[in-house]
Amino acid sequence: MRRLLLPALASLLGACALLGARADEPMVDVTRLDPRIRVDIRYATPSNFTKTVLYPQARCMLRSRVAKRLSLAQADLSAVGLGLKVWDCYRPLSIQKKLWELVPDTRYVANPAKGSRHNRGAAVDVTLVDLNGTELPMPTEYDDFSERAHRDWAGASPAALRNRQTLEAVMQRHGFTGLSTEWWHFDARGWDRYPLSDVPLSP
Ligand SMILES: [Zn+2]
Repeated sequence: MRRLLLPALASLLGACALLGARADEPMVDVTRLDPRIRVDIRYATPSNFTKTVLYPQARCMLRSRVAKRLSLAQADLSAVGLGLKVWDCYRPLSIQKKLWELVPDTRYVANPAKGSRHNRGAAVDVTLVDLNGTELPMPTEYDDFSERAHRDWAGASPAALRNRQTLEAVMQRHGFTGLSTEWWHFDARGWDRYPLSDVPLSP
């Protein structure tokens, strides 16, 4: 029995170390970790698909290991004169409930009963910018819920397709997986090891 259990335990521990996620891992402010990452939190403004201000503060909070991975992606982009701009990071569960009250439709919003990966501090909505902070052309605007936002939509301009590919490649390299229906959304691998959270965005 012991002979069987030990290798199984060792491989489980190895997998945990590889993914690095810990349930009690703190949320950190991404711009404090890496001021090069630009922040335009749309849910802190009326400039989002609900036309409602949902966040009390424009802050990008992520689990600390997820934030570090994002900083590594930013470093790769900085080396070629580009950068990241985040539109959404951690979203408290109580705000997910408000969002669901406004738009109770799973095509657009995750049901708070199940929660979103954003509620775990393990997902980010992000695009590319140049050194001046100007957004690079992408297939659609943020929160475009049409098929044009799908990761495999081939109808965009060559520049937009190239930029989408650049973003996906750098995010994948640093441990993120893209959502098939939203070119801007990336989940940190190991996201399911983080619990749903309702820590407020305001300090
Ligand atoms: Zn998202």
